Amino acid sequence: MGCRMCRKWEYDIQEKAWGAPSLSQWESAITGLGEMTQGRLQVNFAGGEPLCREETLPLIVHTANCGMDAQLATNGLLLNEDKARELGRAGLKNATISLDGARSRTHDFLRGRPGSFEGVMRAIDLLTRFAPDTEIDLNTLICGINLEELPGLVRWAANDGRINAVGFQAVTHPFSAPLLERWYESPRYSFLWPRDEPRMEAILDELRELAKGNGIRLGFIKNPPVQFKVYKRYFRQPEEFVKRDGCHLMDALNITPEGEVRICFEQPALGNIKEKKIEEIWFSEQALKVREAISVCQRNCQAMVNCNFDGEKEYELG
Ligand code: SF4
Repeated sequence: MGCRMCRKWEYDIQEKAWGAPSLSQWESAITGLGEMTQGRLQVNFAGGEPLCREETLPLIVHTANCGMDAQLATNGLLLNEDKARELGRAGLKNATISLDGARSRTHDFLRGRPGSFEGVMRAIDLLTRFAPDTEIDLNTLICGINLEELPGLVRWAANDGRINAVGFQAVTHPFSAPLLERWYESPRYSFLWPRDEPRMEAILDELRELAKGNGIRLGFIKNPPVQFKVYKRYFRQPEEFVKRDGCHLMDALNITPEGEVRICFEQPALGNIKEKKIEEIWFSEQALKVREAISVCQRNCQAMVNCNFDGEKEYELG
């Protein structure tokens, strides 16, 4: 892929530099997560593209065996009949497929690869037929290029009958790209930013109405309706957006391809599952220090508009 809103693919292809954990180290970390949470956890396999990694399937099986729900975030391109059957048999609870436009031209442009849209449609078909117990969600970027297509995309998905839900994320600083102040004005990324403010507001209002269940099933859009108000403010004033109560990512647990455990990718790692058990890492001195740093982080972090969104009261809505 060559996604235009994320440069992670440039990093992921440098696999030789990783030193990834072994399968048993990954399994041990997942077992630990299950024990720490009494199985009340959803484990999300994300990337890059997790189906590029041969450990993904056995780890989905292991997650299900530990009593937890496994979710796969995928572009769908590597799915075929066998892989869809294997995922279904593995107990995959949810496949979330990225779809960034209602038209193939839009999705293929944003993903940087012709045929990507067709690949998503094929993936939906394969999972429906060969992994019937796996829910299919869509994950969709909100950006300047696809804005006009978004209400239509939701209505199509809601009426299609095979899709469980659609979740939206506003475009933010491209992942894994060098930090750029006012990135949305840079020649490389400015096309991603919604420039027509009245249209941006009208579309986000329309999505908000759909999220309230007006015209489609309530809950079909995973974002709470108020999040579209927050997106409007963010697109109007990206530099001034402030979340009132600071960072709420205190308990987000990410494990990188190298095995590093991180809460925030801008803060140091808590430890590495190649060296320690996940339980030790999560309750370590280093974890306390990182949480302290997070609690006082003053960065006007754009991740806050999307990640772990937790309601109206904590955001200053204009
Ligand atoms: S940069 Fe700061 S505000 Fe953003 S997720 Fe990290 S700790 Fe939270």
